[in-house]
Order: sequence, then structure tokens, then C-alpha cells
Amino acid sequence: MHMEMNDKRIDEVLEFIWSEREQGRRSIEALLQIDEIASAGAERDTLNEMQGYGLVTVDGDEVELTARGEELSRFAIRRHRLAERLFSEVLDLEASLIEKTACDFEHSLSPVVTESICTLLGHPPTCPHGHRIPRGDCCEKASKTIEPLVRSLNELNIGEEGRIIFVESKSHARLDKLGSMGIVPGSIIRLHQKSPAYVIEIGETTLALDPDIVKEIHVKKAG
Ligand SMILES: [Zn+2]
Ligand SMILES: [Zn+2]
Repeated sequence: MHMEMNDKRIDEVLEFIWSEREQGRRSIEALLQIDEIASAGAERDTLNEMQGYGLVTVDGDEVELTARGEELSRFAIRRHRLAERLFSEVLDLEASLIEKTACDFEHSLSPVVTESICTLLGHPPTCPHGHRIPRGDCCEKASKTIEPLVRSLNELNIGEEGRIIFVESKSHARLDKLGSMGIVPGSIIRLHQKSPAYVIEIGETTLALDPDIVKEIHVKKAG
């Protein structure tokens, strides 16, 4: 059976299934209302076609990804969310434009280009909406072949400023604490001193931070 790998419609459905599953939903009802599919009048056809390709299984009102479907939707979601990051951080596009542009753009991203974008953006864990970006090979290797645009705060030179893009911490308590100090995406942070301890400035405040916390703060160099 021939499968057109660049089929945008199928990619959109795979992304939709993935996003719904993140919310704990598996119903095909919502799926059948996606604009692109509904307007093409091909609701059931698309699902049937995807079943034929071995991408999904449908059981009553529930849809599940097969291993192959899982792999493809993981990659589609990764491209989409990285594209969103790219458009928001690099091009400063306004929110209303990001979604549409990302949707059009993501389909043209090859695996190699996707990895380059991920590296450029400092391997972001989430999209601008806070949804998780599936990890790629580049994230494991933390490839440095491309000069990253977004980097850990500890990689700035003393006196340099950066705009916080994301804070990656496994500890929610720590994230809350940092948030209460104004260390949140969008804030401008300045690296004041590296040793004997890290000292940063944010707004009018000067703070000493642990080295592991400094590494978790990811910034885009300002100015
Ligand atoms: Zn998003
Ligand atoms: Zn990566």
C-alpha cells in the first residue's frame, strides 16, 4: 500500500489525537469535527484510511495510536511545537499568527532540519503554550554543532543580559519559588557574578542562586 508521507491531513489528525490524549481524551467525536477534515466531508474516510495504513485502531468511540501511529504523531507534534517556539522566540510573531504559521510550516521540516531548530532553540521542553515537546536524539546528545540561540544562564558572560525563555526544573516547588522572585519567561535577567557564587539581577532585585538553578534558567541573549 502506498502511503503519502507528506499528507498534511493525516498529520493534523495524528497531532490532534496526541493532544487529546494528553488531556486524557480518546473519543473520536471531537476528532470528527476538526475543520480540515469536516470541511472536506471526509470524516470517516480519513479515519478509515488511517486504519488502513495501520496508524490507528478504532474501538467503539475510542481511537488509539498503533506503534507506527505513535511514532509519526510524536514526530508531527515535535515539529509543530518546535515551529511554534521558533516563530515566537526568533521572529517574535504575535500569538494569533504563530498557530497558523506553525501549522503551515511544520510539514516542510525534515528530521535533520527539525534537529537543527531544536538545537538552535536550546532543546526546549515545552512549546509557548506550555505543552510538552517530545524529545529528539539531539536533546539526548545536547548537540552543540549549532551555536544555540537559547542557552543556560550560566553560559552568559558576566554583565550580559538575557530574556528568560524557559525554566526547566523537575521540582515544582523550585519553579514556584523562582516564579515568586520574578524568574519567569519574558523577564530580563542579568548575570552579575559567577564566583564565588552566582549573583543575578532581575528588575531592582539582586539575588544569589545555586549553580544548578542557574543552569535550569534558559535565556536568549538580549541586546
Ligand atoms: Zn503550542
Ligand atoms: Zn533537541
